[in-house]
Amino acid sequence: MSTDPMQQLHSWLKDAHAMEEQAEQMLTAQAKRLEHYPKLQERITQHIEETRSQASRITECLESMDTSTSTMKDLGAKFAAMGQVIGGSMASDEVVKGGIASYAFEHFEIANYRALIAAADQLGQDRIREVCEGILKEEMAMAKWLEDNLDEVTRAFLARAESDELQGKR
Ligand code: MG
Ligand code: FE
Repeated sequence: MSTDPMQQLHSWLKDAHAMEEQAEQMLTAQAKRLEHYPKLQERITQHIEETRSQASRITECLESMDTSTSTMKDLGAKFAAMGQVIGGSMASDEVVKGGIASYAFEHFEIANYRALIAAADQLGQDRIREVCEGILKEEMAMAKWLEDNLDEVTRAFLARAESDELQGKR
């Protein structure tokens, strides 16, 4: 079964849009529970803004294409499992588990945008390629930040657990 290449690109952009909507939900849930981790909270809040903007940039790409024959399927459920790890967990170590899951999710986004860039380039869709390249930079910056800060977040979590223990809170 072959798919028209432009339709394929459109379908992948739809997937990316669903991915960003899922990302916004996860990050929003995560940010609310990070009051003891202000640096992480601030970076995630910044990325929520970027993520909202990414979703609307993808919508613009979709609207720029002829969608008359496209299939408009929603893939939100695909990411639900990962979303639970990132934004839905109430486990005591959620800050660390969320940091790990966010790091993985940013790389999932990076892989998606790399494929989209290749597809848009091959199909001569320069504007779409440029939009995806811009988003890719933001995802890579977020992944790098998490890479640079997961060590510190993990240590801060353990230090808090230790001091709670000393004060008989646990
Ligand atoms: Mg994103
Ligand atoms: Fe992201």
